[in-house]
Amino acid sequence: MHIIIIGSGIAGVSFAEKYRSYSTDDEITLITGENAGYYSRPLLSRGFSKDDIEQTIILKTFDKLRANNITVISGLKITAINRTEKTVTSSSQDDGPLHYDKLILATGSAAFIPPPFRPYGELFFCLNSLTDLKALRKFRCEITRQNRPPAWAIIGGGLIGCEVASDLAVSGDHVTLFHALDRLMERQLVAEDSALLLEVLQNSGVKVLLNQDVKGFSKQEKKVCVDTKISTEFDALIVSCGFKPRAELAELAGLKVGRGIKVNQSMQTSDESIYALGDVAEFPNGKLYAFILPIRNQAHWLAGFIAGQEPPNWTPPVFTTKAKVHGFEAAHPYNV
Ligand SMILES: Cc1cc2nc3c(=O)[nH]c(=O)nc-3n(C[C@H](O)[C@H](O)[C@H](O)COP(=O)(O)OP(=O)(O)OC[C@H]3O[C@@H](n4cnc5c(N)ncnc54)[C@H](O)[C@@H]3O)c2cc1C
Repeated sequence: MHIIIIGSGIAGVSFAEKYRSYSTDDEITLITGENAGYYSRPLLSRGFSKDDIEQTIILKTFDKLRANNITVISGLKITAINRTEKTVTSSSQDDGPLHYDKLILATGSAAFIPPPFRPYGELFFCLNSLTDLKALRKFRCEITRQNRPPAWAIIGGGLIGCEVASDLAVSGDHVTLFHALDRLMERQLVAEDSALLLEVLQNSGVKVLLNQDVKGFSKQEKKVCVDTKISTEFDALIVSCGFKPRAELAELAGLKVGRGIKVNQSMQTSDESIYALGDVAEFPNGKLYAFILPIRNQAHWLAGFIAGQEPPNWTPPVFTTKAKVHGFEAAHPYNV
């Protein structure tokens, strides 16, 4: 049997390694758009306070996976799935269609950009991948070389926006955080913990602006402006407004898609040879389990299920999360 996995995040890599532990004979090919290896996405939001992050964030090189008899094709984007022929095709002219017996979609998620911001794509950064982090660090270096701290605007006071604001502030930068609602991380925290988080961020030097209706952005020579009721200038903007499952490939192939790729409780899509897991998978209860712990659990369960070692129906583990905001501990459990 040939299993093709698309994606080298925690979902794809954990699945590949676990499946290899069940089967030494089956062929496993992991295809990914990434080049740098398998890295820790959660560490991205600690990417400014740690100098050696670009090296230490790598959890495993692709060569290490290859040494475990997993074929890794890196730097390649899969652009189409032919469900009749059971093949996948890439953006590269050199690679012909690759045949699969089972296809695992672990394509993860991109940053969600609210529609009003989309025309201004050139004017802001996101922090969703190692490539994004490297671009942000390079930009930050250019400013600090002028012997002054960069001035950032972070748009979005959710989990990642608060983490990034915190890490930039403790690194000595000027940070203004714009949030649309009246309290931070309102989806995960009770009001009392939101208030504590606000205090912690303010104490670390972050200027937090709540109830902000950001209409768009504009450029003023070397500065960028956030357009609310008043216009304020910054060196750079980071939009952090949630995530968007990368379900386009599945949709193009005619699989059932909602917010993510729709799967049953055994992670099977509307095509019985194709499975999805991780940030991109939407379960029958409408939930996406976009956190490390449940994703690793999904990957291990799915490998066992395909290897005939698990009964049908994955059950989500009990899990929680924790904002990586310097100096912040919530008093109550997070809502996940
Ligand atoms: C800044 C940040 C901080 C976070 N902090 C935490 C935390 O503290 N705790 C926690 O539990 N979770 C955290 N998360 C969420 C967690 O990182 C994600 O839920 C998890 O990494 C998703 O893993 P995944 O394998 O599903 O997808 P991803 O990690 O997104 O991997 C998807 C992979 O698919 C590849 N790919 C996509 N499309 C194609 C294609 N067409 N062809 C080839 N390759 C393709 C991509 O290149 C990538 O390798 C954080 C996320 C971010 C962005």
